[in-house]
Amino acid sequence: MIELSYSRATDAADAIRRAEAQAAKYLGGGTNLVDLMRETVEVPSALIDVTGLPAEIEETDDGGLMIGAATRNTAVAEHPAVRTRYPMLTRAIVAGASAQIRNMATVGGNLLQRTRCTYFYDTDGSRCNKRTPGEGCDAIEGFNRIHAILGGSSACVATHPSDMCVALAALDALVHLRSASGERTVALCDLHRLPEDRPDVETVLEPGELITAVQLPASDLAAHSTYRKVRDRSSYAFALVSVAAALQLDGDAVADVRLALGGVAPKPWRAWRAEEALRGRPATEASFLEAADAELADARPLAGNAFKLDLTRRTIVAVLQQLTEGARP
Ligand SMILES: Cc1cc2nc3c(=O)[nH]c(=O)nc-3n(C[C@H](O)[C@H](O)[C@H](O)COP(=O)(O)OP(=O)(O)OC[C@H]3O[C@@H](n4cnc5c(N)ncnc54)[C@H](O)[C@@H]3O)c2cc1C
Ligand code: SF4
Repeated sequence: MIELSYSRATDAADAIRRAEAQAAKYLGGGTNLVDLMRETVEVPSALIDVTGLPAEIEETDDGGLMIGAATRNTAVAEHPAVRTRYPMLTRAIVAGASAQIRNMATVGGNLLQRTRCTYFYDTDGSRCNKRTPGEGCDAIEGFNRIHAILGGSSACVATHPSDMCVALAALDALVHLRSASGERTVALCDLHRLPEDRPDVETVLEPGELITAVQLPASDLAAHSTYRKVRDRSSYAFALVSVAAALQLDGDAVADVRLALGGVAPKPWRAWRAEEALRGRPATEASFLEAADAELADARPLAGNAFKLDLTRRTIVAVLQQLTEGARP
Protein backbone atom coordinates (compact mmCIF):
# COMPACT_ATOMS: atom_id res chain seq x y z
CA MET A 1 0.00 0.00 0.00
CA ILE A 2 1.23 3.50 -0.87
CA GLU A 3 0.32 6.18 1.64
CA LEU A 4 -0.93 9.54 0.42
CA SER A 5 -2.91 12.44 1.81
CA TYR A 6 -5.95 14.08 0.22
CA SER A 7 -7.17 17.61 0.76
CA ARG A 8 -9.53 19.99 -0.98
CA ALA A 9 -8.28 23.44 -1.93
CA THR A 10 -10.61 26.33 -1.09
CA ASP A 11 -9.09 28.70 -3.65
CA ALA A 12 -6.06 29.02 -5.95
CA ALA A 13 -3.79 30.49 -3.26
CA ASP A 14 -4.74 27.67 -0.90
CA ALA A 15 -4.04 25.04 -3.60
CA ILE A 16 -0.59 26.48 -4.31
CA ARG A 17 0.27 26.68 -0.59
CA ARG A 18 -0.74 23.08 -0.03
CA ALA A 19 1.16 21.86 -3.12
CA GLU A 20 4.33 23.66 -1.99
CA ALA A 21 4.35 21.86 1.31
CA GLN A 22 4.57 18.32 -0.13
CA ALA A 23 5.31 16.28 -3.31
CA ALA A 24 1.75 16.87 -4.39
CA LYS A 25 -0.31 16.55 -7.57
CA TYR A 26 -3.37 18.60 -8.28
CA LEU A 27 -6.45 16.43 -8.71
CA GLY A 28 -9.09 17.36 -11.29
CA GLY A 29 -11.67 14.76 -12.23
CA GLY A 30 -9.04 12.07 -11.63
CA THR A 31 -9.89 10.28 -14.89
CA ASN A 32 -6.24 10.13 -15.96
CA LEU A 33 -4.27 10.69 -12.76
CA VAL A 34 -6.00 7.94 -10.79
CA ASP A 35 -5.33 5.42 -13.59
CA LEU A 36 -1.67 6.46 -13.59
CA MET A 37 -1.51 6.03 -9.82
CA ARG A 38 -3.09 2.56 -10.07
CA GLU A 39 -0.31 1.56 -12.50
CA THR A 40 2.29 3.28 -10.25
CA VAL A 41 3.38 5.48 -13.16
CA GLU A 42 2.59 8.44 -10.87
CA VAL A 43 3.23 8.10 -7.14
CA PRO A 44 2.33 11.43 -5.46
CA SER A 45 2.48 11.69 -1.69
CA ALA A 46 -0.44 14.13 -1.64
CA LEU A 47 -3.44 14.98 -3.79
CA ILE A 48 -4.79 18.52 -3.75
CA ASP A 49 -8.32 18.45 -5.10
CA VAL A 50 -8.85 21.56 -7.26
CA THR A 51 -12.37 20.81 -8.47
CA GLY A 52 -13.76 23.43 -6.05
CA LEU A 53 -11.88 26.22 -7.87
CA PRO A 54 -13.65 28.52 -10.37
CA ALA A 55 -15.65 26.57 -12.94
CA GLU A 56 -17.43 29.40 -14.72
CA ILE A 57 -17.42 30.39 -18.37
CA GLU A 58 -17.42 34.17 -18.63
CA GLU A 59 -17.41 36.75 -21.42
CA THR A 60 -14.18 38.76 -21.69
CA ASP A 61 -14.01 42.46 -22.58
CA ASP A 62 -12.63 41.69 -26.07
CA GLY A 63 -15.60 39.43 -26.92
CA GLY A 64 -13.89 36.13 -26.11
CA LEU A 65 -14.48 33.65 -23.29
CA MET A 66 -12.66 32.86 -20.04
CA ILE A 67 -13.12 29.25 -18.93
CA GLY A 68 -12.25 28.35 -15.32
CA ALA A 69 -9.82 25.43 -15.12
CA ALA A 70 -12.21 23.37 -12.98
CA THR A 71 -15.00 23.56 -15.56
CA ARG A 72 -16.03 20.07 -16.60
CA ASN A 73 -15.47 19.12 -20.24
CA THR A 74 -19.22 18.57 -20.77
CA ALA A 75 -20.05 22.05 -19.47
CA VAL A 76 -17.62 23.59 -21.96
CA ALA A 77 -18.94 21.54 -24.89
CA GLU A 78 -22.56 22.36 -24.09
CA HIS A 79 -22.15 26.08 -23.40
CA PRO A 80 -24.22 28.05 -25.96
CA ALA A 81 -21.41 30.56 -26.67
CA VAL A 82 -18.93 27.74 -27.30
CA ARG A 83 -21.37 25.86 -29.54
CA THR A 84 -22.11 28.87 -31.71
CA ARG A 85 -18.86 30.87 -31.66
CA TYR A 86 -16.29 28.05 -31.36
CA PRO A 87 -18.01 24.94 -32.78
CA MET A 88 -14.72 23.11 -33.36
CA LEU A 89 -14.21 23.08 -29.59
CA THR A 90 -17.59 21.49 -28.90
CA ARG A 91 -16.94 18.90 -31.61
CA ALA A 92 -13.46 18.11 -30.31
CA ILE A 93 -14.65 17.60 -26.75
CA VAL A 94 -17.59 15.36 -27.65
CA ALA A 95 -15.28 13.30 -29.90
CA GLY A 96 -13.30 12.33 -26.78
CA ALA A 97 -13.75 9.62 -24.16
CA SER A 98 -17.33 8.87 -23.03
CA ALA A 99 -20.14 11.02 -21.65
CA GLN A 100 -19.37 9.82 -18.11
CA ILE A 101 -15.67 10.70 -18.40
CA ARG A 102 -16.43 14.08 -19.98
CA ASN A 103 -18.76 14.82 -17.06
CA MET A 104 -15.88 14.21 -14.62
CA ALA A 105 -12.90 15.58 -16.57
CA THR A 106 -11.87 19.20 -16.01
CA VAL A 107 -10.29 21.66 -18.43
CA GLY A 108 -7.05 21.82 -16.41
CA GLY A 109 -6.80 18.02 -16.26
CA ASN A 110 -7.52 17.63 -19.96
CA LEU A 111 -4.59 19.90 -20.81
CA LEU A 112 -2.21 17.87 -18.66
CA GLN A 113 -3.45 14.33 -19.39
CA ARG A 114 -0.56 12.07 -20.32
CA THR A 115 0.15 9.97 -23.39
CA ARG A 116 -1.63 6.70 -24.14
CA CYS A 117 1.58 4.97 -25.30
CA THR A 118 1.07 1.44 -23.98
CA TYR A 119 4.74 1.06 -23.03
CA PHE A 120 4.42 4.12 -20.81
CA TYR A 121 1.71 2.36 -18.77
CA ASP A 122 3.56 -0.99 -18.66
CA THR A 123 5.68 -0.59 -15.55
CA ASP A 124 6.35 -4.35 -15.40
CA GLY A 125 8.57 -4.90 -18.39
CA SER A 126 8.80 -2.03 -20.87
CA ARG A 127 11.55 0.56 -21.20
CA CYS A 128 10.25 4.10 -21.33
CA ASN A 129 12.28 7.34 -21.24
CA LYS A 130 9.22 9.35 -20.29
CA ARG A 131 8.66 7.23 -17.17
CA THR A 132 12.31 6.58 -16.31
CA PRO A 133 14.65 9.05 -18.05
CA GLY A 134 17.60 7.38 -19.77
CA GLU A 135 16.05 3.90 -19.74
CA GLY A 136 15.33 3.66 -23.48
CA CYS A 137 12.15 3.56 -25.54
CA ASP A 138 10.53 0.27 -26.50
CA ALA A 139 8.08 1.95 -28.87
CA ILE A 140 10.64 3.08 -31.43
CA GLU A 141 11.49 -0.47 -32.52
CA GLY A 142 8.24 -1.93 -31.19
CA PHE A 143 4.52 -1.62 -31.78
CA ASN A 144 4.27 2.01 -32.91
CA ARG A 145 1.09 2.20 -34.93
CA ILE A 146 -0.40 4.95 -32.72
CA HIS A 147 2.80 6.97 -32.34
CA ALA A 148 4.04 10.30 -33.71
CA ILE A 149 5.06 11.11 -37.26
CA LEU A 150 5.86 14.76 -36.45
CA GLY A 151 7.91 16.27 -33.61
CA GLY A 152 9.19 13.01 -32.10
CA SER A 153 12.81 12.41 -31.08
CA SER A 154 15.19 9.49 -30.70
CA ALA A 155 14.13 9.42 -27.03
CA CYS A 156 10.32 9.40 -27.42
CA VAL A 157 7.68 9.23 -30.14
CA ALA A 158 4.55 9.33 -27.97
CA THR A 159 1.56 11.40 -29.07
CA HIS A 160 -0.43 13.86 -26.99
CA PRO A 161 -3.87 12.29 -26.52
CA SER A 162 -6.18 15.27 -26.04
CA ASP A 163 -8.86 16.19 -28.57
CA MET A 164 -9.80 19.39 -26.78
CA CYS A 165 -6.22 20.71 -26.93
CA VAL A 166 -6.14 20.39 -30.73
CA ALA A 167 -9.10 22.76 -31.03
CA LEU A 168 -7.58 25.08 -28.40
CA ALA A 169 -4.33 25.19 -30.41
CA ALA A 170 -6.23 26.18 -33.56
CA LEU A 171 -8.21 28.80 -31.62
CA ASP A 172 -5.06 30.57 -30.29
CA ALA A 173 -6.19 29.86 -26.73
CA LEU A 174 -4.25 31.26 -23.80
CA VAL A 175 -3.57 29.34 -20.61
CA HIS A 176 -3.60 31.28 -17.32
CA LEU A 177 -1.16 30.01 -14.70
CA ARG A 178 -0.53 30.87 -11.08
CA SER A 179 2.24 29.93 -8.66
CA ALA A 180 3.80 31.27 -5.46
CA SER A 181 5.83 33.68 -7.60
CA GLY A 182 2.84 35.19 -9.37
CA GLU A 183 0.60 34.84 -12.40
CA ARG A 184 1.47 34.44 -16.07
CA THR A 185 -0.18 33.49 -19.35
CA VAL A 186 1.19 31.17 -22.03
CA ALA A 187 -0.23 30.37 -25.44
CA LEU A 188 -1.70 26.86 -25.57
CA CYS A 189 0.63 26.23 -28.52
CA ASP A 190 3.60 26.90 -26.19
CA LEU A 191 2.33 24.99 -23.14
CA HIS A 192 3.47 21.52 -24.24
CA ARG A 193 7.11 20.76 -25.06
CA LEU A 194 8.49 18.49 -27.75
CA PRO A 195 10.33 15.53 -26.20
CA GLU A 196 13.88 16.11 -27.55
CA ASP A 197 16.13 14.39 -24.99
CA ARG A 198 13.78 15.00 -22.00
CA PRO A 199 10.42 13.38 -22.78
CA ASP A 200 9.60 13.33 -19.07
CA VAL A 201 9.36 17.16 -19.12
CA GLU A 202 6.09 17.58 -20.99
CA THR A 203 5.13 21.21 -20.42
CA VAL A 204 6.61 24.59 -19.55
CA LEU A 205 4.88 24.53 -16.15
CA GLU A 206 7.05 25.08 -13.09
CA PRO A 207 6.67 22.67 -10.16
CA GLY A 208 3.47 23.48 -8.27
CA GLU A 209 2.18 25.84 -10.94
CA LEU A 210 -1.59 25.77 -11.19
CA ILE A 211 -3.71 26.19 -14.32
CA THR A 212 -6.43 28.65 -13.36
CA ALA A 213 -8.23 29.31 -16.66
CA VAL A 214 -8.21 28.96 -20.43
CA GLN A 215 -9.01 32.05 -22.48
CA LEU A 216 -10.51 31.92 -25.96
CA PRO A 217 -9.79 35.14 -27.89
CA ALA A 218 -12.60 36.65 -29.94
CA SER A 219 -12.56 35.31 -33.48
CA ASP A 220 -14.82 35.79 -36.51
CA LEU A 221 -13.13 32.84 -38.13
CA ALA A 222 -13.90 30.39 -35.32
CA ALA A 223 -17.65 30.45 -35.94
CA HIS A 224 -16.97 28.66 -39.21
CA SER A 225 -14.93 25.78 -37.90
CA THR A 226 -15.02 22.06 -37.33
CA TYR A 227 -13.13 19.10 -35.89
CA ARG A 228 -12.76 15.68 -37.46
CA LYS A 229 -11.32 12.69 -35.65
CA VAL A 230 -10.24 9.47 -37.38
CA ARG A 231 -9.92 6.47 -35.07
CA ASP A 232 -10.19 2.70 -34.98
CA ARG A 233 -13.81 2.70 -33.81
CA SER A 234 -16.47 5.35 -33.74
CA SER A 235 -16.41 6.07 -30.01
CA TYR A 236 -14.24 5.57 -26.96
CA ALA A 237 -10.98 5.58 -28.91
CA PHE A 238 -8.12 8.04 -29.15
CA ALA A 239 -7.34 9.79 -32.45
CA LEU A 240 -5.10 8.18 -35.04
CA VAL A 241 -5.34 11.54 -36.79
CA SER A 242 -7.51 14.53 -36.05
CA VAL A 243 -7.91 17.92 -37.67
CA ALA A 244 -9.29 21.15 -36.20
CA ALA A 245 -9.89 23.81 -38.83
CA ALA A 246 -11.50 27.21 -39.34
CA LEU A 247 -11.74 28.84 -42.73
CA GLN A 248 -12.73 32.23 -44.16
CA LEU A 249 -13.10 32.75 -47.92
CA ASP A 250 -12.75 35.89 -50.01
CA GLY A 251 -14.55 34.90 -53.19
CA ASP A 252 -12.89 31.67 -54.25
CA ALA A 253 -9.68 32.30 -52.34
CA VAL A 254 -8.67 31.49 -48.77
CA ALA A 255 -8.79 34.76 -46.83
CA ASP A 256 -7.75 33.21 -43.53
CA VAL A 257 -7.40 29.78 -41.99
CA ARG A 258 -6.57 28.03 -38.70
CA LEU A 259 -5.41 24.43 -38.72
CA ALA A 260 -4.19 22.08 -35.98
CA LEU A 261 -3.55 18.34 -35.91
CA GLY A 262 -3.99 15.68 -33.23
CA GLY A 263 -2.83 12.07 -32.95
CA VAL A 264 0.33 12.71 -34.95
CA ALA A 265 2.71 14.56 -32.61
CA PRO A 266 3.84 14.77 -28.97
CA LYS A 267 1.90 18.01 -28.57
CA PRO A 268 -1.23 19.53 -30.10
CA TRP A 269 0.25 20.39 -33.49
CA ARG A 270 -0.53 23.80 -34.93
CA ALA A 271 -0.11 23.46 -38.70
CA TRP A 272 1.60 26.83 -39.23
CA ARG A 273 3.20 25.81 -42.53
CA ALA A 274 -0.07 24.62 -44.01
CA GLU A 275 -1.80 27.84 -42.92
CA GLU A 276 0.93 29.92 -44.54
CA ALA A 277 0.68 27.90 -47.73
CA LEU A 278 -3.09 28.41 -47.89
CA ARG A 279 -3.57 32.15 -47.30
CA GLY A 280 -4.49 33.90 -50.54
CA ARG A 281 -4.57 30.67 -52.54
CA PRO A 282 -7.62 29.33 -54.41
CA ALA A 283 -9.79 27.19 -52.14
CA THR A 284 -9.31 24.06 -54.23
CA GLU A 285 -8.34 20.47 -53.59
CA ALA A 286 -4.95 21.11 -55.23
CA SER A 287 -4.14 23.96 -52.80
CA PHE A 288 -5.32 21.90 -49.83
CA LEU A 289 -3.08 19.00 -50.88
CA GLU A 290 -0.10 21.31 -51.34
CA ALA A 291 -0.68 22.79 -47.89
CA ALA A 292 -0.93 19.33 -46.30
CA ASP A 293 2.31 18.30 -48.02
CA ALA A 294 4.03 21.45 -46.78
CA GLU A 295 3.05 20.56 -43.22
CA LEU A 296 4.15 16.95 -43.60
CA ALA A 297 7.47 17.72 -45.30
CA ASP A 298 9.42 16.96 -42.11
CA ALA A 299 7.32 13.96 -41.05
CA ARG A 300 9.30 10.91 -39.95
CA PRO A 301 7.00 7.90 -39.89
CA LEU A 302 7.98 4.75 -38.00
CA ALA A 303 7.72 1.15 -39.21
CA GLY A 304 4.14 0.79 -37.97
CA ASN A 305 2.58 4.16 -38.70
CA ALA A 306 3.46 5.28 -42.24
CA PHE A 307 -0.27 5.06 -42.99
CA LYS A 308 -0.72 8.22 -40.90
CA LEU A 309 0.96 10.29 -43.62
CA ASP A 310 -1.75 9.66 -46.17
CA LEU A 311 -4.48 9.63 -43.54
CA THR A 312 -3.40 13.08 -42.32
CA ARG A 313 -3.19 14.41 -45.86
CA ARG A 314 -6.65 13.11 -46.77
CA THR A 315 -8.25 14.30 -43.53
CA ILE A 316 -6.86 17.83 -43.93
CA VAL A 317 -8.19 17.99 -47.51
CA ALA A 318 -11.60 16.58 -46.56
CA VAL A 319 -12.08 19.01 -43.67
CA LEU A 320 -11.05 22.03 -45.75
CA GLN A 321 -13.36 20.95 -48.57
CA GLN A 322 -16.23 20.61 -46.11
CA LEU A 323 -15.60 24.10 -44.72
CA THR A 324 -15.26 25.54 -48.23
CA GLU A 325 -18.59 24.10 -49.32
CA GLY A 326 -20.22 25.42 -46.12
CA ALA A 327 -18.79 28.92 -46.71
CA ARG A 328 -20.15 29.31 -50.25
CA PRO A 329 -23.55 30.98 -50.64
C1 LIG B 1 -11.22 5.30 -21.09
C2 LIG B 1 -10.82 6.69 -21.40
C3 LIG B 1 -10.94 7.16 -22.70
C4 LIG B 1 -10.55 8.47 -23.01
N1 LIG B 1 -10.68 8.93 -24.29
C5 LIG B 1 -10.26 10.20 -24.60
C6 LIG B 1 -10.34 10.71 -25.92
O1 LIG B 1 -10.77 10.03 -26.84
N2 LIG B 1 -9.91 11.98 -26.14
C7 LIG B 1 -9.42 12.78 -25.14
O2 LIG B 1 -9.06 13.91 -25.39
N3 LIG B 1 -9.32 12.31 -23.89
C8 LIG B 1 -9.72 11.05 -23.60
N4 LIG B 1 -9.61 10.58 -22.33
C9 LIG B 1 -8.85 11.36 -21.37
C10 LIG B 1 -9.65 12.32 -20.60
O3 LIG B 1 -10.04 13.37 -21.44
C11 LIG B 1 -8.72 12.82 -19.52
O4 LIG B 1 -8.51 11.75 -18.63
C12 LIG B 1 -9.29 14.02 -18.80
O5 LIG B 1 -9.46 15.10 -19.66
C13 LIG B 1 -8.39 14.43 -17.66
O6 LIG B 1 -9.09 15.38 -16.89
P1 LIG B 1 -9.22 15.22 -15.33
O7 LIG B 1 -9.83 16.47 -14.80
O8 LIG B 1 -9.88 13.94 -14.95
O9 LIG B 1 -7.67 15.19 -14.95
P2 LIG B 1 -6.92 14.43 -13.78
O10 LIG B 1 -6.83 12.98 -14.11
O11 LIG B 1 -7.50 14.81 -12.46
O12 LIG B 1 -5.49 15.13 -13.89
C14 LIG B 1 -4.69 14.99 -15.04
C15 LIG B 1 -3.40 15.79 -14.81
O13 LIG B 1 -3.71 17.18 -14.74
C16 LIG B 1 -3.20 17.75 -13.52
N5 LIG B 1 -4.12 18.83 -13.17
C17 LIG B 1 -5.47 18.75 -13.06
N6 LIG B 1 -5.99 19.98 -12.86
C18 LIG B 1 -4.94 20.86 -12.84
C19 LIG B 1 -4.83 22.28 -12.68
N7 LIG B 1 -5.88 23.06 -12.52
N8 LIG B 1 -3.59 22.82 -12.71
C20 LIG B 1 -2.48 22.05 -12.90
N9 LIG B 1 -2.55 20.71 -13.03
C21 LIG B 1 -3.75 20.13 -13.03
C22 LIG B 1 -3.15 16.59 -12.55
O14 LIG B 1 -2.21 16.81 -11.52
C23 LIG B 1 -2.72 15.46 -13.47
O15 LIG B 1 -1.33 15.51 -13.67
C24 LIG B 1 -10.01 9.30 -21.99
C25 LIG B 1 -9.89 8.82 -20.68
C26 LIG B 1 -10.27 7.53 -20.38
C27 LIG B 1 -10.12 7.03 -18.97
S1 SF4 C 1 7.28 6.56 -27.02
FE1 SF4 C 1 7.72 7.82 -25.21
S2 SF4 C 1 6.12 7.19 -23.78
FE2 SF4 C 1 6.25 5.56 -25.31
S3 SF4 C 1 7.78 4.07 -24.54
FE3 SF4 C 1 8.88 5.53 -25.79
S4 SF4 C 1 9.61 7.03 -24.29
FE4 SF4 C 1 7.93 5.94 -23.34
